Amino acid sequence: MAVITDALCPFCGCTCDDLTIVTEGNKIIEAKHACKLGAAKIMGHHRIKAPMMRTDKNGNFKEVSYEEAINETARILVNSKRPLLYGWASALCEVHKKGILLAEEVGGIIDNTASVCHGPSTLAVHEKGLPTSTLGQIKNRADVVVFWGSNPVQAHPRHMGRYSVFAKGFFSDKGRRGRKIIVADVRKTETANIADEYIQVQQGSDYLVISALRAILSGHADVVPDAVGGVSKEQLVKLVDILKAAKFGAVFFGMGLTQSQGRYKNIDNAISLIFELNSFTKYVIMPMRGHYNVTGFGQVCSWETGFASAVDFSRGIPYYNPGETAANDLLLRKEADAAMIIAGDAGAHFPANSVRHLAKIPVVQIDPYWNPTTEVANVVIPTAICGIEVEGTAYRMDGVSLRYRKMIEPTHPTDMEVLERITERVREIRGD
Ligand code: SF4
Repeated sequence: MAVITDALCPFCGCTCDDLTIVTEGNKIIEAKHACKLGAAKIMGHHRIKAPMMRTDKNGNFKEVSYEEAINETARILVNSKRPLLYGWASALCEVHKKGILLAEEVGGIIDNTASVCHGPSTLAVHEKGLPTSTLGQIKNRADVVVFWGSNPVQAHPRHMGRYSVFAKGFFSDKGRRGRKIIVADVRKTETANIADEYIQVQQGSDYLVISALRAILSGHADVVPDAVGGVSKEQLVKLVDILKAAKFGAVFFGMGLTQSQGRYKNIDNAISLIFELNSFTKYVIMPMRGHYNVTGFGQVCSWETGFASAVDFSRGIPYYNPGETAANDLLLRKEADAAMIIAGDAGAHFPANSVRHLAKIPVVQIDPYWNPTTEVANVVIPTAICGIEVEGTAYRMDGVSLRYRKMIEPTHPTDMEVLERITERVREIRGD
């Protein structure tokens, strides 16, 4: 039996780094301190055993060798005019680097899962910047914490305990008793149930509510009507008083803000509110990133191409224009004629029309797990699990990079090996 202490969890953007992993032989038998979500991934489920291809006319899978699956993937990519390489969020930065090289090699479009979650946040940050901090600063200092359109109880179960609500820090030694918690959401979530103040925003009205808060904050409460977006003026004024009274405030926002009406303009407006609150006291804002290394893809893609996601290499140079070059733009226009989905699940998270188009084109899935994308895939290549069987770097939701150690030995080739072999094969087929 072996015990690994201070291990990192490869599931959500909290990237908790205090797990104790107990192994026996080459098997994990316990993941102490992990939440249910993290433990389910670490303990293992629904692994794909061997590469598969749909070879018969009924479309059934047949097990094939890695060699055959890699050859077929390279052939699909070389024959495609608009290949889409999508996913990446549940893989390490070392995988992203290889993937961007392959996208450039085949003149494809590379995009990650932020496309359907925090992509709009990136656009807002382009325009406004991001007054932010580390999670450590929030743990040690925050006395007012706002969750807007995010529900950490369900999606980031240890966020509140480790960083934002219950955690005791250097200047916040009272933990929960020393913090005001505010939740703004369209429905009363489990997180709202433990808040001091719950703001029930009418669906699609976040932009209006944030604008009303900004008006009140800047001394123009007189122009605000009796209710805005389902929130009474009285409650809005009370909320501004709480926000202004903070010594250090933090706003965490989720998909309830990024994917509701207004999208990136909601984030733009929220960032403006934070800038204005900084005229009174100290405030920071942070996206609640979902997958454990979705932030890392943005980092690697930015330093490799100059853009954080949705990069089109068809011109021979990186070109970026979300609305035109994001994964769903291509699929909804039926422009992508092949797709490689890696470390992300387009089948589960894309709109129905995008998935319908995926079902009509050749799709390669590279992933340790069987998931809805497998159902539309023509070629499936199982890989080792990043962060459990493969070491490497990932970026926490606050942009802090952390090094994952291997917990057990891999039983499958790594994503890096598979991408390298596909790239080599692409070069061979083209006769480079
Ligand atoms: S909160 Fe997230 S990172 Fe932490 S143990 Fe749970 S799933 Fe893993």
